[in-house]
Amino acid sequence: MDFELTDELKMLKDMAKKFAQTEFSSLSRECDEEEKYTPEIRRKAAENGLVAAWVPEEYGGSGAGILGNAIITEELSKVDMGIGLNVVAAAFGCEAIFQFGTEEQKKKYLPPVCRGEQVSAGAFTEPDAGTDVAGYRTRAVKDGNDYVINGNKMFITNGTVCDFMVAQCITNPEEKKHNSFSLIIVPADTPGVTRNKIRGKMGIRSSDTAEIVFEDARVPQSSLIGREGNGFRQLMHFFDVTRIMVSAQALGLAEACLETSIKYVKERSAFGAPLGAFQLTQMKLTEMAIKIEALRGLVYKSAWLVDHGRPDYTLAAMAKYFGGQTAVFCANYAVELHGGYGYIDEYSVQKWYRDAKILELYEGTKEAEIMTIGRMLQSR
Ligand SMILES: Cc1cc2nc3c(=O)[nH]c(=O)nc-3n(C[C@H](O)[C@H](O)[C@H](O)COP(=O)(O)OP(=O)(O)OC[C@H]3O[C@@H](n4cnc5c(N)ncnc54)[C@H](O)[C@@H]3O)c2cc1C
Repeated sequence: MDFELTDELKMLKDMAKKFAQTEFSSLSRECDEEEKYTPEIRRKAAENGLVAAWVPEEYGGSGAGILGNAIITEELSKVDMGIGLNVVAAAFGCEAIFQFGTEEQKKKYLPPVCRGEQVSAGAFTEPDAGTDVAGYRTRAVKDGNDYVINGNKMFITNGTVCDFMVAQCITNPEEKKHNSFSLIIVPADTPGVTRNKIRGKMGIRSSDTAEIVFEDARVPQSSLIGREGNGFRQLMHFFDVTRIMVSAQALGLAEACLETSIKYVKERSAFGAPLGAFQLTQMKLTEMAIKIEALRGLVYKSAWLVDHGRPDYTLAAMAKYFGGQTAVFCANYAVELHGGYGYIDEYSVQKWYRDAKILELYEGTKEAEIMTIGRMLQSR
């Protein structure tokens, strides 16, 4: 067993770290306050091979694998998780195309995203149903050579800035719920597609989030990914990879909380001693560090397994579940260790506290992850 990163991965980690420190730091506050999306950063990141790095070289990516992409995600999220999301989630919709799309779809959609020219989105959640997939209503009905799509999607990352989205639609309503869905590629400029930015998020405010309305949106049947009725199963495999990226976001944010807290407790004194001299402070740092170490193991191992053709869906769900918990836990302690200063915007910890919560909500809430893990453990 070798826990050492390869030289390539070490270089990638270093490059992503430097990129985030150089490009994100000065924009972080403004983007958070003004809910500003950062297309220029995404383009620069693409020039450095950091967008869709998991995509193999033949489709324009860096071929860094899922572990490489997780490491990039970790380093970007360590500086600013929202801006980092703008970089890594540009390829969010691409995962389904890569796994299940035709050669033609892969060649058409993946390279422009890798080059930073286009952005994808994954449009699954609906206003009246997120966790409960059986409640989804968006329909795609065959008409001639086309699908005509009607319905609403909610909370879609990159919704107003994407060039195309992968939308989950009901194509086979007569089938049982899991066999009724299909994934369909919808170009964002399709007539009948309306996109409304959702403002006022608690955290990751530089990331774009939108409601999307389909009103008789017509796309050719060649936009179907894989076979009709396979959408639900495809989505489960899709999340089993993208969840690793969410856990990598959590890892980066948690590491930032710990590093910043260590620095602070060495500098700040109370009762004639640095905060770090108190055992209660040491307990907080210790608990943060142990959780981070355990999380890194889950993230790297689940990513490594995907890269070696042995994805472990339970492990990826565990990484996502534990990642959200760890990020929220560490952000909470970081604010506490900073005292009153942790509660004002002079320090980043208040932002990380706000940013962290989404990690327990999107791509499956923590409750949904518990249900998934609990079911999978019994089906082994
Ligand atoms: C910033 C942001 C970005 C997002 N990006 C995307 C995106 O790019 N694409 C996309 O498709 N979606 C996206 N989402 C949507 C996100 O995945 C959903 O919000 C999430 O899955 C929860 O769905 P919901 O909001 O409908 O909550 P609900 O499903 O209504 O759940 C509400 C609460 O009930 C709990 N609950 C539900 N069912 C059960 C049960 N059986 N047992 C116990 N508890 C239960 C949930 O865990 C949760 O705590 C995003 C959301 C946000 C906020």
